[in-house]
Amino acid sequence: MYIAPNADVIPTPGQSKIREVRAFVSCSTEYGASDVHDTADTHWIMGLPDKDGTWDHVTTHPPITNPMSRYPKYSGSRSSWGVARVPTVIVEIEDEEGRIGVSASTGGEAAAFIIERHLAMFVEGSNVRDRSLMWEQMWRASIHYSRKGLGVHAISAVDLALWDLVGKTVGEPVFNLMGGRTKERIPVYATTSRPDLAKDLGFRGAKIPLPYGPAEGPEGMKKNVAFVANWREKVGPEFSLMLDCYMALDWPYTAELYRRLELFHLRWIEEPLMPDEYAAHARLAEKIEGMGATTFFATGEHEYTRYGYQQLIEAGVGLLQPDVMWMGGPTEFARVVAQANAQGVEVVPHGCGVYGYYMAMPFESIGLAEFMMMSEQADAIEPNFGVVFKNEPLPVDGYITLPDSPGFGLELNHDALHLERPYSER
Ligand SMILES: [Mg+2]
Repeated sequence: MYIAPNADVIPTPGQSKIREVRAFVSCSTEYGASDVHDTADTHWIMGLPDKDGTWDHVTTHPPITNPMSRYPKYSGSRSSWGVARVPTVIVEIEDEEGRIGVSASTGGEAAAFIIERHLAMFVEGSNVRDRSLMWEQMWRASIHYSRKGLGVHAISAVDLALWDLVGKTVGEPVFNLMGGRTKERIPVYATTSRPDLAKDLGFRGAKIPLPYGPAEGPEGMKKNVAFVANWREKVGPEFSLMLDCYMALDWPYTAELYRRLELFHLRWIEEPLMPDEYAAHARLAEKIEGMGATTFFATGEHEYTRYGYQQLIEAGVGLLQPDVMWMGGPTEFARVVAQANAQGVEVVPHGCGVYGYYMAMPFESIGLAEFMMMSEQADAIEPNFGVVFKNEPLPVDGYITLPDSPGFGLELNHDALHLERPYSER
């Protein structure tokens, strides 16, 4: 039996130590969020059609099936069940020289509590270079209440801010510290209600939400097929088209959907099942393979750490979509990329705007990233985080170019955010 003879790590004398970890919630009156759902009901992403079920793509939009659609009371807009009630948390980590690493994640005041009252103790007084140790200590110390979800969002926010700070400390962009550039620019697809407009804007593909779930029965299934058929016809046979099912389905429904959609050659079908249904993932993967379908089985935006992704890989998922802002931060993201690569599984980072692009850059095996269309009618390119940062890089002709500025190169927009720090007292 091996018992690690761990001695405490003493920060190298002469190098700056971390002085303070601060966690904030935003009191912004404009859209400025880590959660893209924090928008009005007239936004396409809320999936609210007209009363008769139709939409005009202006103030009404195609429905978006989701885990709550099965309950009539919550079957309308996604705001009806509070999709964005847990808002953004923003973290600053300052060292003794006054350098500040910043980050954003989802978790609001609850995450701020975990970060300030617990995780900060493993970070303050440490050297920012020692991120693996800090990650491991945050992970082990929070295991009795965390493992997945909010607690790991909090770890991710701290880890992102640490990577930003180490970049600012050594004067390098985060991707250089993770392996350097593997491509000149990052190709991005658009997540949108308007693949036609995404194509016109130069995106490398488009992903649409599935409108109807099992609760709408055989009629809903038919309407789903017609919906995809219509978009395939509008964008032509060559343009990459993907379908997001946002955890709304079960495995037999999804298998039937695969069968009926095969002729529209989607690039992937995403997140059909609730994340913990690993056995159902395995059944579905086996079914899809049996059909000889060419469409990837993609999922993973609500999975956490290498342990969770291993379960998805073993279940037969072909494409993982880790969200670095939620799943454990860059320290863990790099491990999951290696793990997926060694087992022949693709990785396309989930959402999270600029953070996803910084994760795509240093890994040769990642060839695509996601851009969320944040304009209400999905007709214009707007920053993923709204007013949170002053300088998010935006796509041009379907590609993101990343600057060489240190860290993640992001500047918090303090004037717009009106940040409040609810748990400053230790
Ligand atoms: Mg998704």
